[in-house]
Amino acid sequence: MSTQPALALIYTCNLCQKNLSPAGPPIIGEKPQERLQKLGQALVAHLQKEHNPHVIQMGLAGQQYSGWLFIEQFTHNDTELAKESNKTRLHMRALTKRVHIPDEIIEKQVDTHLPDDPRRDKIIGLLKGMRDSLDEVPPLDPTRKG
Ligand SMILES: [Zn+2]
Repeated sequence: MSTQPALALIYTCNLCQKNLSPAGPPIIGEKPQERLQKLGQALVAHLQKEHNPHVIQMGLAGQQYSGWLFIEQFTHNDTELAKESNKTRLHMRALTKRVHIPDEIIEKQVDTHLPDDPRRDKIIGLLKGMRDSLDEVPPLDPTRKG
């Protein structure tokens, strides 16, 4: 395995798996912002040419995000607007969330670190409740034990 740095930076499109190397190898002395601007233009050109419906969806998401930002600049008592604004926020949150902790991981961690603990079900329930609060999921069945 070589320890040499790659001569060309490669970008793989997540939509079609095509490898792109639009900017070629980094040029010594080139300002990073100029390189990134050229790279961004090339990657956007690929998306517009090959995946235009997806580009339209991204544009709509951008409008949704900016609309949410505008609304968040106001304090109001409009419950319908607050409900829609929160739906938008939760949608954006779901799109950007990187980690989800499934029930099985919580149970495995408790069983590993607290084997044979008589409080097992209560601890698991507490951890799942904390996870659900952080994930902003609706309250679960309060009689749930684990
Ligand atoms: Zn593509």
